[in-house]
Formats: sequence, C-alpha cells, structure tokens
Amino acid sequence: MANQNLTPNLSRQEIAKRRREARERHSAMAAKERDELKKLHWMCCPKCGSSLTEVQFRAVKVDKCFTCGGVYLDDGELELLTSKPGWFESMMRFFRG
Ligand SMILES: [Zn+2]
Repeated sequence: MANQNLTPNLSRQEIAKRRREARERHSAMAAKERDELKKLHWMCCPKCGSSLTEVQFRAVKVDKCFTCGGVYLDDGELELLTSKPGWFESMMRFFRG
C-alpha cells in the first residue's frame, strides 16, 4: 500500500516554503493549543508512538526509539553530526550494534 504522506523529490525551494508555512501555522495557533500539542507529543516516536530515549552520540543527544528502531534529530543536530568525517559509518555502528 502506498504511503499517502510520502512526497518524493522535493526541491530545496519547496522544502523552504513548507518549513516557512509550517512555522507560520504553528505561530498562528493559540499558546494554549501549542502547549497541549507539545505535551501530547513530547518525546514520543512519530512512527510508532512509543517513548523516545535520549542517547548521547558525540556532541549530540539523539532521540532513539527502542521499539521500532527510529533515530531522530533536533534542528541543527544533523549539521553537527555531519561536520565530522566518517560520521555516517560511526553512527551506523553505534545504533546498529
Ligand atoms: Zn518508534
């Protein structure tokens, strides 16, 4: 079955546009609604809903789901991790081991 939410091959401009629109929608919400959304979803896996655990990997606290195996990064953490050579192999060893 095809994933209805899958949007392939977005351009950098489209990604920037969607980020801007999402932030505008979020800003337009009432503070109470934003707080309730955050409480409901904070540290929950976006794929399976289980609790996420912070795992220190190099200079970054990566959010890891031990139920489905998902690994999630906060804004700016991908740039931190990818700034060092060999980051991908190192991350694969760490999270697959
Ligand atoms: Zn999960």
